[in-house]
Amino acid sequence: MEEWILQAAEETEEKARDTKPGEEEKKEPEERAEEKEQESSPETTAPGNGEEKEQEPQAAGHTEEEKEKNEGVQKEDALPAQQKSEPEGEEILRMKDICKDYDMGNEVLHVLKNVSLTVRRGEFLAILGPSGSGKSTLMNIIGCLDVPTSGDYWLDGRHIADEDETSLARIRSREIGFVFQSFNLLQRQNAFENVELPLIYANVPEKERRDRVDEVLARVGLSDKRENMPNQLSGGQQQRVAIARAIANRPAILLADEPTGALDQHTGAQVMELFHELNEEGNTIIMITHDPKIASHAKRIVRILDGEISEGALEDA
Ligand code: ADP
Ligand code: MG
Repeated sequence: MEEWILQAAEETEEKARDTKPGEEEKKEPEERAEEKEQESSPETTAPGNGEEKEQEPQAAGHTEEEKEKNEGVQKEDALPAQQKSEPEGEEILRMKDICKDYDMGNEVLHVLKNVSLTVRRGEFLAILGPSGSGKSTLMNIIGCLDVPTSGDYWLDGRHIADEDETSLARIRSREIGFVFQSFNLLQRQNAFENVELPLIYANVPEKERRDRVDEVLARVGLSDKRENMPNQLSGGQQQRVAIARAIANRPAILLADEPTGALDQHTGAQVMELFHELNEEGNTIIMITHDPKIASHAKRIVRILDGEISEGALEDA
């Protein structure tokens, strides 16, 4: 499986509670093999099955509502008119009444409470909330690194609860580009190799792989650093390598958890500028942050507090 994601999960303090490294590592070879097998068979996506259609009218209403609120946010932020039309894009993510509970023995912790959220292709969404509000828990579910206790989650037409672990591994490596606060680069691999890794897991042929790594390293302005090891790069450069790695597979969603949290203000602003550009180029971005200033870079802001989601302008916070 995707080592770097596992490493990321292990290295990220908050996620350490959830991960069972030994168990996941053991699965690795067979998952790799199964993933290869899947390569030759047609895509096993099942959008538009009966079950999903039944939910449609409800979801459409929800979406309209969100769109209106969304436009409200954009007006407040005085974004160019051109950007306002983008949430019209096709629905790429839908959560309906997602709950996540942790059974602590003597009590049950309700960490996510009936979270419903729709994201459309081309959006740049920030999920803003204070420490402990459930952001990383939500990110882990969005990224298919964790499963909800109840509720429904569709990603790019797939009902995630219906997917087996092999398929989830595939979705993680192809549909989601992860960016973490702590970069999570493999320390013994250079910039090129770090970016190449998800393409190897996705069985992209070598020539195309090299071209794509060169392309995305150029995209983040690091063509001249391809041979550098992570410890020979600044924090901002490491995060740009991580972003290149995240977009190399052309994922449906770029999912970033506190992407500027380990960077100084100036470098953080540069990373936000890169996110802007990537979004302008059509990438869908979901960014998780506790920092309203960072969230204000997004076109749409959803707030999370005590595991509950609400949408609206920053000033309402
Ligand atoms: P954030 O990322 O917004 O800081 P988290 O999603 O990490 O918040 O955590 C939200 C709440 O859920 C916190 O109270 C945290 O202690 C709790 N929590 C997260 N993961 C677990 C877990 N595996 N077991 C028990 N409690 C957890
Ligand atoms: Mg967190």
